[in-house]
Amino acid sequence: MIDQAARQRIADNWNSVVEEVHGAASDCGRDPSSVHVIGVSKYVDAELTSALVAAGCHQLGESRPQLLWQKAEEMEAAESIEWHMIGHLQRNKVRRLLRYRPLVHSIDSERILRAIADEASQQGQEIDVLLEVNISGDESKTGLTSAQLVAVLESLPEAGVVVRGLMAMAGWGTDRADAKRHFEQTRDLRDRVQDSTGVQLPELSMGMSGDFREAIEAGATMVRIGSRLFEGLIDRS
Ligand SMILES: *Cc1c(COP(=O)(O)O)cnc(C)c1O
Repeated sequence: MIDQAARQRIADNWNSVVEEVHGAASDCGRDPSSVHVIGVSKYVDAELTSALVAAGCHQLGESRPQLLWQKAEEMEAAESIEWHMIGHLQRNKVRRLLRYRPLVHSIDSERILRAIADEASQQGQEIDVLLEVNISGDESKTGLTSAQLVAVLESLPEAGVVVRGLMAMAGWGTDRADAKRHFEQTRDLRDRVQDSTGVQLPELSMGMSGDFREAIEAGATMVRIGSRLFEGLIDRS
């Protein structure tokens, strides 16, 4: 069991993150309600995740499908949670994952997009997805190149998925100036492919604990915040 001090700490962390995110939006002339905080709960168990939900965070991100569905089954407040799948997804995990109707941020191939579309169609569902782009061009990173992105948008599945926008990661160890450039490039790429393909891509999922300000300045509509929310509660050193 976690104690009252831990609950209070999570609530304080959540409130200060929301305040900073809203402040960052206001600072660059954006409506604070245009930026959603996705609480990335991958570092902690169902109990600490529940404390985060109790503090007011109802959009949760997990990077592994097994952990997402375990928590979705274990947690009492599960109905009030909107799940976000933010890590690499394999086709053999799709069927079970879709029960929890996640927004999938990490579509990094046409194959996985088709697998989700087929399964969702069979289940009579429609799943919102984001296409993950590899803006740095670094081959060790996941995500679609700009050419692959255009190819995917030009031959979207007819049912089962709705593409809502793009997701990008600045990458581990990137300094904030580089991160900012990557986020701006992602936004510019979005603007270009939206024009050239006619597919509307209003959502931009970018920015994490260390670089969410830069992401918000560049137009992020979803920031994925993990470690900042669990400061003082878990040892990540
Ligand atoms: C872990 C993770 C995050 C959160 O990162 P923090 O630096 O802990 O805020 C965001 N996005 C993805 C895809 C992740 O895997």
